[in-house]
Amino acid sequence: ILEDEEGGVVFFGPSLSSASSSSSRFGYASIGSQRQRLPVYKYRTAILYLVETHATTIIVGETGSGKTTQIPQYLKEAGWADGGRVIACTQPRRLAVQTVASRVAEEMDVKLGEEVGYAIRFEDVTNPAATMIKFLTDGVLLREIMNDPLLTKYSVIMVDEAHERSISTDILLGLLKKIQRRRPELRLIISSATIEAKSMSDFFQTSKKHRGPEDHEFVPKKVPAILSVEGRGFNVHIHYVVEPVSDYVQATVSTVLSIHEQEPAGDILVFLTGQDDIDAAIRLLTEEAHASRKISSGLIVLPLYSSLPRADQDLVFSPTPRGKRKVVISTNIAETSLTLEGVVYVVDSGFSKQQFYNPISDIENLVVVPISKASARQRAGRAGRVRPGKCYRLYTEEYFVNEMSSVGIPEMQRSKLVSCVIQLKALGIDNILGFDWPASPPPEAMIRALEVLYSLGVLDDDAKLTSPVGFQAAEIPLDPMISKMILSSNQLGCSDEIITIAAVLSIQSIWVSGRGVQKELDEAKLRFAAAEGDHVTFLNVYKGFLQSGKSSQWCHKNYMNYQAMKKVIEIREQLRRTALRLGIVLKSCEGDMLAVRKAVTAGFFANASRLEAFSHNGMYKTVRGSQEVYIHPSSVLFRVNPKWVIYHSLVSTDRQYMRNVMTVDPSWLTEAAPHFFQRHRRPDPIVH
Ligand code: ADP
Ligand code: MG
Repeated sequence: ILEDEEGGVVFFGPSLSSASSSSSRFGYASIGSQRQRLPVYKYRTAILYLVETHATTIIVGETGSGKTTQIPQYLKEAGWADGGRVIACTQPRRLAVQTVASRVAEEMDVKLGEEVGYAIRFEDVTNPAATMIKFLTDGVLLREIMNDPLLTKYSVIMVDEAHERSISTDILLGLLKKIQRRRPELRLIISSATIEAKSMSDFFQTSKKHRGPEDHEFVPKKVPAILSVEGRGFNVHIHYVVEPVSDYVQATVSTVLSIHEQEPAGDILVFLTGQDDIDAAIRLLTEEAHASRKISSGLIVLPLYSSLPRADQDLVFSPTPRGKRKVVISTNIAETSLTLEGVVYVVDSGFSKQQFYNPISDIENLVVVPISKASARQRAGRAGRVRPGKCYRLYTEEYFVNEMSSVGIPEMQRSKLVSCVIQLKALGIDNILGFDWPASPPPEAMIRALEVLYSLGVLDDDAKLTSPVGFQAAEIPLDPMISKMILSSNQLGCSDEIITIAAVLSIQSIWVSGRGVQKELDEAKLRFAAAEGDHVTFLNVYKGFLQSGKSSQWCHKNYMNYQAMKKVIEIREQLRRTALRLGIVLKSCEGDMLAVRKAVTAGFFANASRLEAFSHNGMYKTVRGSQEVYIHPSSVLFRVNPKWVIYHSLVSTDRQYMRNVMTVDPSWLTEAAPHFFQRHRRPDPIVH
């Protein structure tokens, strides 16, 4: 049994490198014949005809039927990429963008980044002179609209995984509908795995009243075409638990083991909610395996989540060696956007992690929530791709039938809208509430967002972007609070330091996961810890990393995640270039941490909280919503509990924890945003 340094992958039995080399012995079908066996292949002509004759085509087809990997290739083969035009295919998830792009490059036998390329935030693997098919996140395409409002280089835009209803997908749909009116030659394909085709079609047909002036040029639009690709899924037998389970991680592990003991060959796909419970399940499975030779010789256990290092992702997609059983423990990323071959059994915990925003408390949280029936069906469907399969639902049938909601809530209706609002403003959409949304956002959340942007100085009294701060903030592809922090650092003479902090804040964690090495990790942190808090600590870490010559050994010794640190360097470079475009030349404050902290405060004043006077357990209250919060154990200020802090984000487990925390002088808060603190003053004055 091997355990990977990154704390992710556990192998049982032979290592996967021998697995992939042995795979060729079994003679897999050639890629060409594989392509022709996909369900969409039968519809190739129909798809091309519909795209030719309709402005918008809606394509519904089961996951794995070939929508994402095939349709862009059909379009290219039919000439839609001729004359320097580009076919775009958007995905809500970064990992899916990279995976499908490399798959399609492989199918076309071209080098990734040439004919087939991809773009995700901070990573552009395309060649403007050569790329014909471009996979990108919907967020990146939105950013492209800022520079090219009519997206003129694209001939066809395929908005994929539209059923996921991410915020960016929704905004994109609204904007594409507008763009299409100006560019009748542009073709849209909306593709999704579940049927909401009717409402999508209605959305593209109807036009909203009270439109802007551009509607005078309204081009009569054809009714969207709807095509349903018949799947080739096999029957999936559903098993329910008889009694509700109390611990779904434990229940998952027992179910996997009993499948392994009792069922014939076939891989297992498990749906859990996030990295923590995936790691926990893997740990439990490892322990069980230690106890039994029979299990350890037959199982290959692999995690799958979006922040997984590239090499570990590849393992998940490599064929299972004969005589082994692969168990992939995944977030809902494997629900529709990625296809795993060979899965026959699905274990569905019934939960997923979702962002939820409460506009009253102004708190946004990733919480574990029950999935919808639509998701449950998708998950089950993953078991029937190669032959009849089985799905084990860790909830009762009664619950599924009577209590589970039928579809999920669009992200737009459960998220903080600050980034969304600034983007729309930058795109010249002023009447945001009147925008043509596929699903309207809650007005309270909208108002909160406007308020924060106003306090940040990004919007003026008329809710228009301010010049230059608002326009500059919109230009930076990060949360407006981070953008504001960067812009302020320019005035405070510490942009060099703040760019580093911004880069670190935009990745999950620079430390290795604490499992099993908590004590060593804490000691390592102490070597860098700054009394001012995590932000300044990051600067110490970054400096150490540079001084080590960006050494992986140095990272290893200091319990730092080397991949993450390399990513920091990469993002920092991107941000440096963005800053330069805005006229910000990096300048160091040479150790003046007061300047650094003031710049952080200028962006994050809204996330201020104060230690409760008589709190013995480190309870803070947020200044804005009076919510109970605590410093996260991963922070260098954990147990230090300074009186006033500002945090970067909240995570909720048993409590609300503040991650990435910095001490602050309360007078800086009112200085940074006088209006904000006036309006939100509580009965007991905030600042004594
Ligand atoms: P859809 O978008 O309809 O869900 P895809 O186009 O993603 O379907 O996948 C179609 C088929 O291509 C899959 O069923 C699978 O056989 C194959 N495939 C897709 N991605 C990969 C991959 N990374 N590795 C191997 N095969 C893949
Ligand atoms: Mg797909």
